Amino acid sequence: MGRGRVHLKTSGQERALSKLSAETGAGAAGSDPPRHRGHLLGDGVGCVSLTDFCEPPTPGGPETMAPPQSSRASLDFGGPLGAAALILLLPATMFHLLLVARSGPARLLGPPPYLPGPEALWSPRALLLLLTWLGLQAALYLLPARKVVEGQELKNKSRLRYPVNGFQALVVTGLLVGLGVSAGLPLGALPEMLLPLAFAATLTAFVFSLLLYLKALVAPAYALAPAGNSGNPIYDFFLGRELNPRICSFDFKYFCELRPGLMAWVLINLALLLQEAELRGSPSLAMWLVNGFQLLYVADALWHEEGVLTTMDITHDGFGFMLAFGDLAWVPFTYSLQAQFLLYHPQPLGLPMASVICLLNAVGYYIFRGANSQKNTFRKNPSDPRVAGLETIPTATGRQLLVSGWWGMVRHPNYLGDLIMALAWSLPCGVSHLLPYFYLLYFTALLVHREARDEQQCLQKYGLAWHEYCKRVPYRIVPYVY
Ligand code: NDP
Repeated sequence: MGRGRVHLKTSGQERALSKLSAETGAGAAGSDPPRHRGHLLGDGVGCVSLTDFCEPPTPGGPETMAPPQSSRASLDFGGPLGAAALILLLPATMFHLLLVARSGPARLLGPPPYLPGPEALWSPRALLLLLTWLGLQAALYLLPARKVVEGQELKNKSRLRYPVNGFQALVVTGLLVGLGVSAGLPLGALPEMLLPLAFAATLTAFVFSLLLYLKALVAPAYALAPAGNSGNPIYDFFLGRELNPRICSFDFKYFCELRPGLMAWVLINLALLLQEAELRGSPSLAMWLVNGFQLLYVADALWHEEGVLTTMDITHDGFGFMLAFGDLAWVPFTYSLQAQFLLYHPQPLGLPMASVICLLNAVGYYIFRGANSQKNTFRKNPSDPRVAGLETIPTATGRQLLVSGWWGMVRHPNYLGDLIMALAWSLPCGVSHLLPYFYLLYFTALLVHREARDEQQCLQKYGLAWHEYCKRVPYRIVPYVY
């Protein structure tokens, strides 16, 4: 990560800083002119076949392995010990939440109501179901895409190409599920299988991360992520060594980021709604709100799928246990916690309060979408009329930083919108329990930590220009508070 070196260099020239960031591999190379970014290859009308983007990146960088990162920098997440603790703690927390959500007292901070035996966790049927789901989503990923876009420039100056058909996959999945339910598929039985499904997803994430780790051993240096190459196997297994592991055009990280986990999340929510209807005659207003808000979030992410290509997960973090477990297990099984809670602990919700909550979600969404779209539009084409009038700060890399509009309000307006939505997802569950607020608490911690990591990377990339930006926009996430 080269943090120490960055601090030493801040008084030097910014050119030196951008060179340093290229040397230390700070994500996608920052020296590309913005006009080349997110180049649209499809015309949006004709379909582009898989073979159109099935090509290896042009190797232009060194083929030798990168020097161990631990010798160069301090490590994130508390180093190997922190990573080892998280590898155990994250699955343990997920199982704790699953058990507590269905227990009477639903105490977030108490012990779990019971410890499940192996027979409650291991089910070949659950594993088969999970693998079928992953297979279906992989098949939908491989369908011809309406358009194919290029990602950010890599260390070897090449760019990878990505199919944009996530929303299409969501619609097809929705149709298949609808057909299945009308043909008698017992979707309402899914909540009873959450524990073995979560166990199968955890096992899959472990095995998958191990394979990714082994694959990275033979990857060329230019393909490795800036973090996740410390030389410590536990730390690197957790962070992920390879930036964009692929087999031919199939990009494992891009596939996992938005598809199987996010769609499983809304499917679990829907199953919980159906089961509530079976139990109580009709779904509650609170359940409708939680389902509606979270479906909007997932559909939005898939509609704006290209946007993920400029996020830290794709441009900076390697693909290891952190993202694999997060995408495949943590998201579907813990993000559906509010709906799980509501099934076992029905909450009264009147129309006036529901309207206030809807308004809150709308405000959060407006900020979240406005900020993300503004940055993505600007990064794709700074001359786009929607962003051309915004004030900017030039940087030595040739790229600019927005300093008005959403990005002039706080340094991470998209996080603010996301947190407001997180609050709106918890409020339908009432205020009698802390459990439904777990997502808000965890997400606040995640975004505060993520914001700090991003600031380090931006300082490394932009040096003095980033200092100037921080002076002009002093608050990180919440205006006048943080
Ligand atoms: P961002 O999309 O905020 O990307 C950060 C990058 O934006 C920076 O590295 C920098 O990259 C660029 N940037 C920063 N400031 C400026 C500026 N002033 N002008 C122009 N560009 C700027 O980061 P994330 O990947 O963390 O988040 C993406 C979205 O995903 C957010 O909405 C977040 O809330 C959401 N999210 C949701 C999660 C969930 O579990 N629900 C988990 C994590 C994130 P560069 O200059 O190189 O372009």
